[in-house]
Amino acid sequence: MASIATQLEQVRKRIDKACESAGRDPRSVTLLAVSKTFGPEAVIAAVQAGQLAFGENYVQEGVAKIAALADWAAAQPVPPALQWHCIGPLQSNKSRPVAEHFDWVHSVDRLKIAQRLSEQRPPELAPLQVCLQVNIDGGPNKSGVAPAEALALALAVQDLPGLVLRGLMTLPEPSEDAAQMLAVHRQARELLDRLNASGRLYRPLDTLSMGMSADLDLAVAAGSTMVRVGTAIFGDRTRA
Ligand SMILES: *Cc1c(COP(=O)(O)O)cnc(C)c1O
Repeated sequence: MASIATQLEQVRKRIDKACESAGRDPRSVTLLAVSKTFGPEAVIAAVQAGQLAFGENYVQEGVAKIAALADWAAAQPVPPALQWHCIGPLQSNKSRPVAEHFDWVHSVDRLKIAQRLSEQRPPELAPLQVCLQVNIDGGPNKSGVAPAEALALALAVQDLPGLVLRGLMTLPEPSEDAAQMLAVHRQARELLDRLNASGRLYRPLDTLSMGMSADLDLAVAAGSTMVRVGTAIFGDRTRA
């Protein structure tokens, strides 16, 4: 397999190309490198290639990696400012380490989790940046709030002091049919636009976390502002 630096470069080129085709500024799309199942050395290789934002799915694994990378970063001549995003399903009994160690959470799908994260966010840290996970295509085995419930959840979450509501996250069923995939991504974009047009949010949602290794180009075409890419950067995972 090509090096992590080479793979990162290729993913960045894909994003640039998708932005160009869509008439979008490449700076309007953030690349989140999904490092789940890979060790700290893989993250270090990506940081050395200029990547600073990382996504993790599993709380314990993520917290251990955050600590390892903090030690590594502190020993660098110019410590890089890493940003950690929790993108995996959340259980209420595991919310505290997430609130204490991550910068972002993409997978908020019910008020109870949001309330716990807000209460547990240490006051000396910046508020946790959150996205609401939306089950945009009604996929059966997935977490995510139903699109029709998204506004109500957004209104409740925006009042929680430990959180800043930034946008929506989607994880649609993968499909080989590009037109179908694009249509699903567009529905997410339209939902974000509708919430912003409701006139009921204190600040506009500026983040649409959507698109992975297989479909990031389609997601960018539909208006994604943050793509979450694992395999195309780090290679195949041995566990899901
Ligand atoms: C694993 C994962 C990704 C990355 O998927 P790839 O296909 O490896 O790019 C993105 N988002 C979520 C929520 C994930 O669990």
